[in-house]
Amino acid sequence: MTRYRGGCHCGEVEFEVEGDLTEVDECNCSICTRKAYLHWIVPPQNFRLIKGAQALAVYTFNSGVARHFFCARCGTAPYYIARSDPDKIDVNARCLDGVDIAALRIRHFDGRNWEAAMRQRANSRR
Ligand SMILES: [Zn+2]
Repeated sequence: MTRYRGGCHCGEVEFEVEGDLTEVDECNCSICTRKAYLHWIVPPQNFRLIKGAQALAVYTFNSGVARHFFCARCGTAPYYIARSDPDKIDVNARCLDGVDIAALRIRHFDGRNWEAAMRQRANSRR
């Protein structure tokens, strides 16, 4: 496993995450499109917030399950809690240091049709 360091743009929020980052999910839903998330979903024990809990604002909408954190100072959204995996941490791979985004394999998640996309995901992981 590799340890990555990440955070927001201004430096208020910093975290570490461990895992093998080879692929990310890109979602076409209304918020992921606007935020340009590249999703890397990890177990919470692989994630450690170093600093910045007090700097994080949260945006929720619709079902209210997803908790879209963002730095209240610089606006960056380096990680959040996803509706699809509320027991995990959804790291925005764009906010990790030293990661070559172009080298990652991108899987497409059809978040505009969320229920159907979740069924398809469950089948593909069986
Ligand atoms: Zn910031």
